[in-house]
Amino acid sequence: MFDLVVSDGTLIIPGMGRCAADVGVTDGRIMAIGADLGPAKQTLDATGRLVLPGIFDPHTHIGNERSYEEEAETETRAAILGGVTTIGIFLRSMEDSYSLHLPAFRHAMDTRSYVDSVFHPQIFTSEQISEIPKYAEEFGIRSFKFYMSGLPGIVKSITDDVLLHGFRTVAALGPDAIACVHCETGVLVDQAREALKLRKPEGTLADWAEAHPPEAEALAIQTALYLAKIAGAHLYVVHLSSREGLEVVRAARRAGARFTVETTTPYLGLNSDDPNGFLIKMVPPVRAPEHHDALWAGLAEGTINTVGTDNTSRCLATKQPQAGLHGARPGLPALGTHLPALLHYGRERGVSLETLVDSATAAPAKIYGIYPQKGTIAVGSDADLVVVDPDLERVVRGVELLGMSDFSPFEGKTLRGWPVATIKGGDIIARDFKIVAPANGRYLPRRAPGRAADVPWVPRPA
Ligand SMILES: [Zn+2]
Repeated sequence: MFDLVVSDGTLIIPGMGRCAADVGVTDGRIMAIGADLGPAKQTLDATGRLVLPGIFDPHTHIGNERSYEEEAETETRAAILGGVTTIGIFLRSMEDSYSLHLPAFRHAMDTRSYVDSVFHPQIFTSEQISEIPKYAEEFGIRSFKFYMSGLPGIVKSITDDVLLHGFRTVAALGPDAIACVHCETGVLVDQAREALKLRKPEGTLADWAEAHPPEAEALAIQTALYLAKIAGAHLYVVHLSSREGLEVVRAARRAGARFTVETTTPYLGLNSDDPNGFLIKMVPPVRAPEHHDALWAGLAEGTINTVGTDNTSRCLATKQPQAGLHGARPGLPALGTHLPALLHYGRERGVSLETLVDSATAAPAKIYGIYPQKGTIAVGSDADLVVVDPDLERVVRGVELLGMSDFSPFEGKTLRGWPVATIKGGDIIARDFKIVAPANGRYLPRRAPGRAADVPWVPRPA
């Protein structure tokens, strides 16, 4: 007898397409897919609904505003309510060795998180670079992030020599290891931001894009591609935001370069004319509609491989949208709206459901080494599923998304296509916009292929 059968839904299976089938789950794993699976302790009727693999958002930040432990709970609660069952977390330690912090970060994800997680430490110092093999060995980390352009008062930029050293160190871990890069050329951004302060002490969200000119992104992608090539590292461009950046990516792909490109649902769903103004101030910025159009074209044609959120939760009191062009702080909560925004705007753009789902499940899971445990619906995979009502319309209210934030960048917008149940590790955790079971998330160590590729499913510690 199965623990759970999700019955009569339309499955969207990345790489395979749609099929009408039931899914049988036991001990947190998918055990059968088909018709008339037999008895189950619990049945979830998905008639008229889509059943997707649990969403994997590879790009989140946790603990930027409140403690890491608190946000590990609150922000993953918003995630699971929104159909996200696994996240990649960009960890931050500006100076210290990550060895001092990784046990606590991991403990939080094993005890408080509603979703499973992988880590991408953000690398700032040569000591941290020298310890990359240790982080890989001791914590199963296979992905690391580098900022070519930092954020004033938040993170610092690294120089090209440090980036090259970092790439070489990541490449030495093996072909599955990933170097994630925030691609903006720091000096161009710094110059543009200072010039904007002088030229426009006040302004609109559209003006903010001038502080991060598209050429800074395009040039940085070229530099990162070149350095990654000579180091033999797999480059993962995080949060592509501009048409010019996309053009560089297209040209490099035509020339045979192999690398991965991500954009985010705020960039796909919002543009700089948005009436929510500085609520959606972020870095790089949400840009003018022509960039928005380019990103959708890039996703539809497969130039952009993955979609994340860049979730960096804030509350109105710290976001301070009233502080205007230079005073409002970057960063916004986006986990709770990730899947509805992808479905809603993707449908408006005529992008196939299969492409949308792949970009948010299988594509990032393959890149980050957790496929097919995550990112698909297959016998043996973790039973992480999201049941979606494709026609349900809901007005976004940030306070209803159950994160710590009191706003959403999509505040007041009506989105069509919402998760009505999220199953994580075989348990129905969220249903009809309520949390209905305890958190069961765990941290996922990754191993180099050929060593212990199949991470065993271990029940969460009591
Ligand atoms: Zn980010």
